[in-house]
Amino acid sequence: MMELAKELFPINRSITGQGVRDTLAIIRKHIPITFYCISSGMPAFDWVVPPEWNLYDAWLKDPLGNIVADAKLNNLHVVGYSEPMDCDVGWPELQEHLHSLPDKPTAIPYVTSYYDRNWGFCVSHRARQNFIEGTYRVCIKSTLEPGHLNYGEWIIPGQTDEEIFISTYICHPSMANDQVSGMVVATELAKWVGLAPRRYTYRFVFAPETIGSIIYLSRNLKNLKRNVVAAFNVCFVGDDGELSMIRSRHGETLADRVAEHVLGHLVGVFRDDEFIAARGSDERQYCSPGLDLPMVVISRSLGENYPQYHTSLDDLSIISEANLEGSYNAIRRMLEVLEMNRTYKCKFLCEPQMGKRGLYGPPTDRTMRTRMDILQCCDGKHDVIAMADKIGMPAWELAPFIEQLEVDLIEAT
Ligand code: ZN
Repeated sequence: MMELAKELFPINRSITGQGVRDTLAIIRKHIPITFYCISSGMPAFDWVVPPEWNLYDAWLKDPLGNIVADAKLNNLHVVGYSEPMDCDVGWPELQEHLHSLPDKPTAIPYVTSYYDRNWGFCVSHRARQNFIEGTYRVCIKSTLEPGHLNYGEWIIPGQTDEEIFISTYICHPSMANDQVSGMVVATELAKWVGLAPRRYTYRFVFAPETIGSIIYLSRNLKNLKRNVVAAFNVCFVGDDGELSMIRSRHGETLADRVAEHVLGHLVGVFRDDEFIAARGSDERQYCSPGLDLPMVVISRSLGENYPQYHTSLDDLSIISEANLEGSYNAIRRMLEVLEMNRTYKCKFLCEPQMGKRGLYGPPTDRTMRTRMDILQCCDGKHDVIAMADKIGMPAWELAPFIEQLEVDLIEAT
């Protein structure tokens, strides 16, 4: 996964433009996503696809002719969606277009201006303090023209039309935890889903944040509302922070229950945030009133909770293979539990006679006890997650017992 992260990291992404297409092309080397192109000007609910932005070069020269910010060295140096510029700018005006963070003096901030025509440069505060007063030369070779917004989708048909939906966003330039990590883990999960026949249909979507998910929703509304039983927004999954969840707006959907169950067993005490307090990404659209998709956010250090957030310090050094793998394993567990999550009914009234089936043991036998516990939960009402919560075991450890009981004692309802 780190190899893929290294390949995706340098690309200068935005909500539109060649960077998004290059990103999707790299992901398509791993999984067969379908590319979609939506034209600038296309309306979606209260929004319109903006002009496509592409950046070819951007630099800022001080009065002595030194280049003090250069997008070739770090693509965070230029404000995303900066309009083309080629002119001299006086010192006071320059200040209005310079961005730095006094409390993080070595960090180049990540700034965008998608919907207000503007331009700007982002520099470390330390560098800015050494800027000399005078007239600066501004060169931004960019285009803001009618073009396309792109997203990628892979739908993997299962035995039922009911869907599990996994979304991640693909619009940030050169930041590792936010959001290369999400793309990498989602790609790996899609690979795993594609390896074997599944009960559920899976929908993987790689779209620019906000406008991309709004466009996606506007084009897939009916299917999403009809079919999605659980959804996950995968983001911020590469750093050292403990795995955590943000609940769906509803708060108690199947996605909430499975995430809570798996993280409870894998992590122990974990950050479990309410939607209204912690929402920040595409779940804002997917869970919004009238849509109400059962989407949970799975992440490690979320947004403002880690100091490198939205700066050049969010680089490849703060993510690791082990953390990406831990995130992948946890979400994969959630999918495995969803795949096995059914309700069962016991075929007999009272306890079945286990002895004649060779399934009886002394009351102290934990295996026997678990079998009998499961039987007491086979009432057609407890699904496997509820059963496992009641018994106090991870759902995946119940799987072999359920398989054994399914021979002639219980049946899925
Ligand atoms: Zn972000």
